Amino acid sequence: MTVVYLSLGSNIGNREAYLRKAISALKTLPQTQVTQVSSFYETAAWGKTDQDDFLNLACQLETELDAQDLLSHCQKIEIDLNRVRHEHWGPRTIDIDILLYGQEVIATENLKVPHPYMTERGFVLVPLQEISPQLTLPNGRAVIDYLNQLDVSDVKVAKPFD
Ligand code: ADP
Ligand code: MG
Repeated sequence: MTVVYLSLGSNIGNREAYLRKAISALKTLPQTQVTQVSSFYETAAWGKTDQDDFLNLACQLETELDAQDLLSHCQKIEIDLNRVRHEHWGPRTIDIDILLYGQEVIATENLKVPHPYMTERGFVLVPLQEISPQLTLPNGRAVIDYLNQLDVSDVKVAKPFD
């Protein structure tokens, strides 16, 4: 059994509904339990003002799936949810990223863990910190240490998941 952390985000349509559907889908994965879900966090999209704000959350899983299988399942959930309203590939309603897979370091063509940009993104680390305040990365550094170096004033807690 491996403890896994995912980051989920949406910035199109009913963002909360897409995030809830993605969590529901994760709960149906084989050999997998969703053990924690953070609050929803809203982050203003900067630069391009015609873009909707992002809604993000983090979740914790316990799984027997290996990392590649888990990635495949997450990608299938993304495709299924994007098919709900978009006939063609366009802007995505849901993005699911694997942040951490236990304390493993994975550097394959299609899967990099820890997620390469997670330590630079407040909208990833703030929800992650909420569900796992003591969490450290495989390099031994704590999530809170990275958070303390970021300006997270644009990441606002929107509402609890439940
Ligand atoms: P982004 O998440 O960077 O906005 P995408 O979701 O479109 O962009 O990126 C998808 C690609 O990222 C996939 O082809 C996948 O193989 C690759 N990838 C590499 N590492 C990871 C990871 N840790 N979690 C999810 N996808 C990953
Ligand atoms: Mg992604």
